[in-house]
Formats: sequence, structure tokens, C-alpha cells
Amino acid sequence: MKRLVDGLVRMSRLRDRDALDQALVQLVGEHADEGVETAQLMRLVGESQDMRCLTLATNGLAVPATVQNPVWEDWTLLPHLVDDALRLQAVTDNTPALSNALPWRVVFPIEQTLGEVGVLLDVAADRPFSAELLDVLGSAVQNYRNLLGLLDYGEKDALTELLNRKSFDGAFFKAAQARHAQPELLQPERRAAAEAPGTWLAVLDIDHFKRVNDNFGHLIGDEVLLLMARLMRANFRFHDQLYRFGGEEFVILMRCPSAEDALGALERLRHRVANHVFPQVGQITVSIGFACLRGNDTPGAAFGRADQAVYYAKEHGRNQCCSYDKLVQTGALEQAKAEAMDVDLF
Ligand code: GH3
Ligand code: MG
Ligand code: MG
Repeated sequence: MKRLVDGLVRMSRLRDRDALDQALVQLVGEHADEGVETAQLMRLVGESQDMRCLTLATNGLAVPATVQNPVWEDWTLLPHLVDDALRLQAVTDNTPALSNALPWRVVFPIEQTLGEVGVLLDVAADRPFSAELLDVLGSAVQNYRNLLGLLDYGEKDALTELLNRKSFDGAFFKAAQARHAQPELLQPERRAAAEAPGTWLAVLDIDHFKRVNDNFGHLIGDEVLLLMARLMRANFRFHDQLYRFGGEEFVILMRCPSAEDALGALERLRHRVANHVFPQVGQITVSIGFACLRGNDTPGAAFGRADQAVYYAKEHGRNQCCSYDKLVQTGALEQAKAEAMDVDLF
């Protein structure tokens, strides 16, 4: 009992998702004397027909504690949910699934949004689980879920449920760190995928959004923002981070193998938006600017570069994606600044 309470207190102090994940598996792992061997916390990622399990934290005798960085995960290497009957059962029934033969395991489903299981805790033991141990694990999971809800409340935008601006700086530095991760620290099968890629920051601004509000009212304007967030979610990979920075401005932090791939993903979104029919409003377009993260970058500096590219896109007809790095390479951005000054001066 004391051990459980101590663990819960430790968890309640944390304000970081990764640390919270780690604290949960640590707390579960501390019950080795009651038979617990390993604890694995996983996020479900992907489409409903092809769900995969991304390990967030592990602890136990067989696997050393590690903190995985989702930014570096290769989607195709993740295990399928359907290949593990117990995990699948926990997700389908949305109740803990217990094996009644060796190997002794219990899988707890953890809801992220109401009714939707987003995370799984998979615990293995060397003997059948006692009712008391299951109770303790259930309380730990419940506590974890409550704390996760509080973090969400502070880090997500209430309208779109995308991440908010406040949570951006921390995520930016994590992404920048991952960019410099030593490939030899990664598992061998991930090394090849991890050598080349970079991280890009994109800023997306809806074109002539003021007109939407003026012509249709703020409620419809808000509806457009909500639909925009949905289109973004459907367009990007699970490890890309999507933010609403305020108003009608969105930010995407994404890892790609090359600048061409980054442009490809952004162009795909731009086309999706342009081809989407928004109820009442009809067609809407977006202007997007993006920049590659550099060594010793700061959130402000990277954002500033991407924002200059958005400005360029707005000045040159809107409904387009512009790469800051390319604009500078070709000298176009200097030209854009000069053009803007001309307009200001005369
Ligand atoms: P541009 O193509 O140059 O970006 O034109 P724009 O009209 O989108 O640009 P501007 O930045 O001048 O206007 C942004 C508008 O976004 C102003 C305001 O009416 C609207 N807006 C900002 N925040 C919200 C919000 O939370 N909800 C709604 N409905 N509208 C918002
Ligand atoms: Mg704007
Ligand atoms: Mg705008």
C-alpha cells in the first residue's frame, strides 16, 4: 500500500508526458516480489484497420528502461495490434484483458479521448495475477489517465484539440535533440532510416479568413478551423506534431527523409484543403511556409524563417507552399523583402 501511494505521489509531481510514462512503468515494475516481470506502455497509432503499437516506455527484468522518441520511429517496423490477441481484446472490449494460462499477462486499455483507447499497459508476470495486484495496477492506470487528462487540458487547444502554442517550445527542443541523436544508440533496424532525415517546421495560415468571419459569422469561422484541424490530422503521420498557434495560424513540426518529402506532405495538405468543400463557406485555401531545423536553432528563429516564407507565399498569390531555404538559395526572399519595402515606401 505504502509503495503504491509513494508511486502515485511521485507521478503527480510530473508535468512531462515522457516522464509520466516512465513513472508508470517504474511503479508497476516495483511489484517484482508479487510476480511482475515486465511492464510496457504503448501508444496505438495508425488507421483503425492497421493499428500498430508504439512503445512509449518499458521496464522490467528482460528489457532495460528506455525512453523511446516517437520522432524517430519507423512506422513499418511497429508490431500490428491484431497480431497480439490479448492487446486486441483489451482494445475491443475497452476493459482489462487477462490471460488465463502461461504466459501470465494483463493488458489495460487507457482512454485518451472519451470512449477511444489510445494507450495500452501490457504487464507480464511469472505467476497468475492476484486480485490485490490487479487492484493496485488498476489504480496506477487510473491515476496515470487522470494526470494525462490534466496535461492535455494545459497543452491542447480547446477548439481543435491540436497542441497549443504553450507546449511548442518543449517539443521543439526535443525534436531538435532527436535530430542529433547518435544513430548507434538506435536499434539496428532503425539505423538506416535514422541517418538521413531532418526535421521541418511549417507555418500554415488560412487565406482571407477574415472574409469567412465577415460573410458567415464567427461560429462558421470556428467550424472551418475545426475542419482544418481534421484535415491536418488525416494528412500527417502519427509522429508529426500539429499545433494551433492562435487565430487561423497552424504549425507543423515534422520529420522527413528529405526536403522533397516535406514539400510533398505539405503540398498534399494544400491540395486536400483546396479540394474540400467546407459547409456553407465552400472553397478555402491556405498558404504554407516551411524551414529546415538547424543546429542550435531556437523555436523563435525557426518559426521566424518559416513565417517569412508564408509572407512570401501571401505576397505571391496565396494557395502555395514555399520553402524558406529554397527562397534564400534562389535569392527570391531578398527580392520579396525589397518588394515589400517598395510598397511601404511609396
Ligand atoms: P491573409 O490571406 O492575408 O492571411 O488574410 P486573412 O484575412 O486570413 O488575414 P488576417 O490575419 O488579416 O485575419 C485573420 C482573421 O482571423 C481575423 C479574425 O477575423 C480571424 N480569427 C482569428 N482568430 C479566430 C478565431 O478563433 N475564430 C474565428 N472564427 N476567427 C478568428
Ligand atoms: Mg493570420
Ligand atoms: Mg490568414
